[in-house]
Amino acid sequence: MGKERQRINDMKQSDFNHVTYSWDDDVASQLDPVERLRYRSNILGADQRITNTGGGNTSSKMTLPDPLTGEEVRVMYVKGSGGDLRTSKRENFASLYMEKLNALKGIYDAAEVKGVKTEIEDAMVAMYPHCVYNLNPRASSIDTPLHAFIPFDHVDHMHPISAIAIAACRDQVALTEEIFEGEIGYVGWQRPGFDLGLQMEALAKANPHFKGLIMGQHGLINWADDDRACYELTLTLIEKAARYIEQRDRGEKTFGGRKYQPLSDREREDLLLALLPTLRGLVSQQNKFIGTVHITDRVLQFVNSHDAPRLAELGTSCPDHFLRTKIKPLYVGWDPQNEDFHALVSKLEAGLVQYREDYRTYYEACKHPNSPAMRDPNPTVILIPGVGLIAWGKNKSESRVTAEFYSLSIEVMRAAEAISAYQGLPRQEAFDIEYWLLEEAKLQRMPPEKDLARNVVVVIGAGSGIGKATAHRAAREGAHVVCVDLNSEAAEATAAELTGIYGMGIGVAGTGISASGPTIGLSADITNRDSVREMFRQVILAYGGIDNVIVTAGVFIPPSKEGKVTDPQWDLTFNVNVKGSYLVADEARSIWQAQGLQGSLVLTTSVNAAVAKKGSMAYDTSKAAANHLVRELAIELSPLIRVNGLAPATVVEGSSMFPRERVISSLTKYNIAFDESEETEALRNKLAAFYAQRTLTKAPITLADQAEMAYLLSTKAFAKTTGQIFSVDGGLHEAFLR
Ligand SMILES: [Zn+2]
Repeated sequence: MGKERQRINDMKQSDFNHVTYSWDDDVASQLDPVERLRYRSNILGADQRITNTGGGNTSSKMTLPDPLTGEEVRVMYVKGSGGDLRTSKRENFASLYMEKLNALKGIYDAAEVKGVKTEIEDAMVAMYPHCVYNLNPRASSIDTPLHAFIPFDHVDHMHPISAIAIAACRDQVALTEEIFEGEIGYVGWQRPGFDLGLQMEALAKANPHFKGLIMGQHGLINWADDDRACYELTLTLIEKAARYIEQRDRGEKTFGGRKYQPLSDREREDLLLALLPTLRGLVSQQNKFIGTVHITDRVLQFVNSHDAPRLAELGTSCPDHFLRTKIKPLYVGWDPQNEDFHALVSKLEAGLVQYREDYRTYYEACKHPNSPAMRDPNPTVILIPGVGLIAWGKNKSESRVTAEFYSLSIEVMRAAEAISAYQGLPRQEAFDIEYWLLEEAKLQRMPPEKDLARNVVVVIGAGSGIGKATAHRAAREGAHVVCVDLNSEAAEATAAELTGIYGMGIGVAGTGISASGPTIGLSADITNRDSVREMFRQVILAYGGIDNVIVTAGVFIPPSKEGKVTDPQWDLTFNVNVKGSYLVADEARSIWQAQGLQGSLVLTTSVNAAVAKKGSMAYDTSKAAANHLVRELAIELSPLIRVNGLAPATVVEGSSMFPRERVISSLTKYNIAFDESEETEALRNKLAAFYAQRTLTKAPITLADQAEMAYLLSTKAFAKTTGQIFSVDGGLHEAFLR
């Protein structure tokens, strides 16, 4: 196009105090136009002060050859539906013919009833696939017309705190004028869609001096004919707004000043450990939730303030924030200095009852004849003075994003209250976003939740063998998996494998271990109660509670040539195989009881428990005791927790219980020919083949076979089964239970 750069001058980081300047021409100049858009999007999205996770979108209009005719055509690449600017790749962008997009205006205009929230407006979304350039499968977002109809080549639409603050305060129009000195226009709140796109086009055309618009209650959109200029304009506008706000910051007087004193870190952690499982149980009455604890000085300043209850009631503003944080958070007016834990719990219980009632009232007052049914009425954000912010979501990623968005909302309120007075999104508008039929259709298209979704599964022994295979199996079914092992490196290695497969999820919130992804690795010595307790404390802080515990940790000490173990070895065998499982169950019990949610415990015993033989007396009797432990625990932990036993037969594959010496001693015992020079794995295979021949099904028993049973026993498939032992042994008739 040969357009002249519109840059004011060469910008650099020192021009900005409130945003990170990241443009590098050396990088950008190597890229094609689509990659330049990807690059610009990534560096915009990398700064939370520029936009929130998953929020905002970017576009570039360019000339490209038509794949059929070879003719030069105008095409817009625009961030498509889903995904996140920070992590977007080329394939996250939709591509559409400009000519066809413009032709849509004719269809829209021809409708008798048009405008925001009309049938034709929603119907236009279904027309975007007709405009797709080069068979790009990425779905176009509802913001597509906001980009398409602005008569400039590059458009950035961001959700920066400083712009939302202006957009969400009482004097939004006057402040836009004052801060941006007429360079930026204002468009009132409207649900994004075709009509808003047309309004923006009209504003941009009627005001050629406009470089962008503040979008009421929502954010910022700005444009330029050069991509670097567009990026720099975005940063300049955000910086300008942020400086204006900073000069008016109320400091100690923010949010009406402090009402409650903060707790010490230690007091807060103890309180959270006691509170989180109870709270998880209370909010999970319809659907289980995973928690994220978010505690920063800024969050604490808000929850401890005089104005927190008033501002919390107003709800959030930017539709992105609002969709996660719901119409409003639950603020609990508890005095951390003068009230005790029981007062907190009863205030939370009462607060939740009120919250659900308010939610129902909101739903009934705002619903349309064709609105989807009311969704889960529980809050996703809970604010407690002295403690901080606790967010809930269907998975870790969602709860982290929710915590992020509410902490951003706090910053929006801080800024809006500094320069004017904050106002939330009008209730009906919030409803029309939350229960938008297009949003509902998106939910309906989502695949059904997996078997262990919304569950926290603690696998003890996850560093190797059956435990590791079980951790993988549970993660595949959507579980949040806590990989626990005596060997912390092995636990972390399994967790790292799972994170490598399933990712960290999105969102940047969470304090300490609560900032984790769907998997963590922890160490614990199950023979030591304090160690087990500390492990569960970490799990509570990470996710808010536990659902399923699977113990695969066990020990087999090969006997001497005379078939004996020493007294200390006997003790160790019982300590790990019996007492260890008991300590795990006993420590999990109080968490399960506080939650009051259904869960399960699987203990790994052995078919040896039922087959008497020579040479493994300590091991076999410990496993017989473990079988009975299953039955006793099933009675003690009922009705909430099902307890079942998995009784593997000798799984030789990759098992830490089959070190080379044991393999050799077994091969010797069974008179199987082998050579000392053979690799351990080859010796294991020989032994596995021998064992297979002793079974009814004649096939080696694998780790995956065991993991499958451990996983199944943790699911609804076995909802009516407790106190039972399941052998996965290929069929050993000597081990048949009677
Ligand atoms: Zn937006």
